[in-house]
Amino acid sequence: MPSHITDVALALALYVVTGLGVTVGFHRLITHRSFTARRWLKVGLAVAGSMSFQGSVLDWVATHRRHHAFTDRPGDPHSPYRYGAGVVGQLRGVAHAHVGWMFRNDPTAVGHYAPDLRADPAMVRIGRAFPALCAVSLTLPFVVGWAVAGSWYGGVTAFVWAGLIRVALLQHVTWSINSLCHLIGPHPHPTRRHDRSTDLWPLALPSFGESWHNGRASP
Ligand SMILES: [Zn+2]
Ligand SMILES: [Zn+2]
Repeated sequence: MPSHITDVALALALYVVTGLGVTVGFHRLITHRSFTARRWLKVGLAVAGSMSFQGSVLDWVATHRRHHAFTDRPGDPHSPYRYGAGVVGQLRGVAHAHVGWMFRNDPTAVGHYAPDLRADPAMVRIGRAFPALCAVSLTLPFVVGWAVAGSWYGGVTAFVWAGLIRVALLQHVTWSINSLCHLIGPHPHPTRRHDRSTDLWPLALPSFGESWHNGRASP
């Protein structure tokens, strides 16, 4: 099989698996308990989400519950309104909500926001395995690419496309929910007074529906 077809197929497959791990697993199942799932499925989704380089399942869930508790108010870990609604403040706010917030020393207390996960030995183990799962997320495409192409060059191109670029793409889509999906697009459901989440259709498909962020605003 030509190397580039393997790269695209692998990138797509890993994007879908890790993307569903974050959106269906981390977000809807584990953070909000929107549905119940069999144990193996919950564990599988938590492992898949951990492979997306977005923090351990415990940190992700705690941070997101805090975001819901303080949406677009002081205390929200990643609101684009942190620096006000003026043009300069808004530009700073977008950068903060997209990536800047991760570089601030503003940790979210897992014990306070996610005691249920702390009490679940499987989730604690998956949380501890986060660095190893990230390593698997990059090693896997390299190994499969090498095996299918039969050359180390095939491994390297798969590593770049289905590893690095796939991870970066999903990260930016997820981060856009925090930044763009509180700024651009309609806000048809007034949920809570401060909540400025929006529905942004162009991101609906790559975000597996998460960019209908206002529709999902009420926990
Ligand atoms: Zn949520
Ligand atoms: Zn939000």
